[in-house]
Amino acid sequence: MSELRDALESLRTDASARVASVADANALAELRHELLGRSGTLTALLKQLGSVPAEERPALGQLANRVRAELEAAIEARQSALAGDDDDAWLAEEALDMSAPGRPVPIGHLHPVMTLMRDVREIFHAYGFEVFEGPEIETEEYNFELLNIPPDHPSRDLWDTLYVAEPGSVEAGNPEPARDETILRTHTSPVQIRAMRALEPPIRILMPGRCFRHDAVDASHGFEFFQIEGLVVDRDTSLADLKGLLEEVARALYGRDVPTRFRPGYYPFTEPSVAFDIGCLVCGGEGCPACKRTGWMTILGAGMVHPTVLRNGGFDPDEFQGYAFGMGPDRMTMLRHGIGDIRLVFSADLRFGTQFPAGH
Ligand SMILES: [Zn+2]
Repeated sequence: MSELRDALESLRTDASARVASVADANALAELRHELLGRSGTLTALLKQLGSVPAEERPALGQLANRVRAELEAAIEARQSALAGDDDDAWLAEEALDMSAPGRPVPIGHLHPVMTLMRDVREIFHAYGFEVFEGPEIETEEYNFELLNIPPDHPSRDLWDTLYVAEPGSVEAGNPEPARDETILRTHTSPVQIRAMRALEPPIRILMPGRCFRHDAVDASHGFEFFQIEGLVVDRDTSLADLKGLLEEVARALYGRDVPTRFRPGYYPFTEPSVAFDIGCLVCGGEGCPACKRTGWMTILGAGMVHPTVLRNGGFDPDEFQGYAFGMGPDRMTMLRHGIGDIRLVFSADLRFGTQFPAGH
């Protein structure tokens, strides 16, 4: 009965080759079922064993058992080989390329307002200005009185500023603050007095800092904002010096061709006072909603230091003169980047801050 022997031998050869070429674990399980399962090829051959002559059965039976053992061993070997391949694939994915350049570590950068303030500081540094800082919590005396803002001035109104009330100093229902009340400064101008009292002329300083007002928050107002104040005190200082300096600064900030103009203005602590405009950066002077159809944008207020303020700072106005100017870095940043809502500037939202180029 060599037919059954041949069939077993060819199953042995063919099946071994098929097991060796199986590509994945699922295909291997299917092949195992096909070869060794209850209705598989080997079982079918074993069923024929009953019909072979009795003297040939033991030898054929042994052969069939060997074939089953070999196939099972081959399938098991293939199984671990396939599992080993998976390990290798995982290793290949996780492999470290030691020659690859490093991945950059994300680090923060300056807020666009801080970037602008540093740019402004650098420009003024070229003209000999240094930074002088003062406290954010001020006395009424420094914030108003020494700056020639008398108690009946509208900006002294309780509603125009934020008072840092001492416990018990403001009685319930009494809108009048105590005389010596401390406040959140409404502008950086009180630093002028502190600087004049601390420094020897010639004084050329820049006073950047945060200010506060009792303002309802909307697209163009916040209860906090930045100012950069400048002060020069020296002998023979004139409005012409102020004009020349501001024109140069505007060109440095907004380009050599930016048109500029001075208009009369009013501040209690300067006399005369001026408003300094540049040509609208949005429409180029044609007139648009951003410039209220005038073609001009006011970027700062300035003037000659009022004699009373000079006196309060410890200088004789007959001997020394000075000029001062103040600008709004928030608004300047909005102009620089085309930002339409000041609330974004103070939002502390990273989605906002990360849109701007890193400062230095
Ligand atoms: Zn315009």
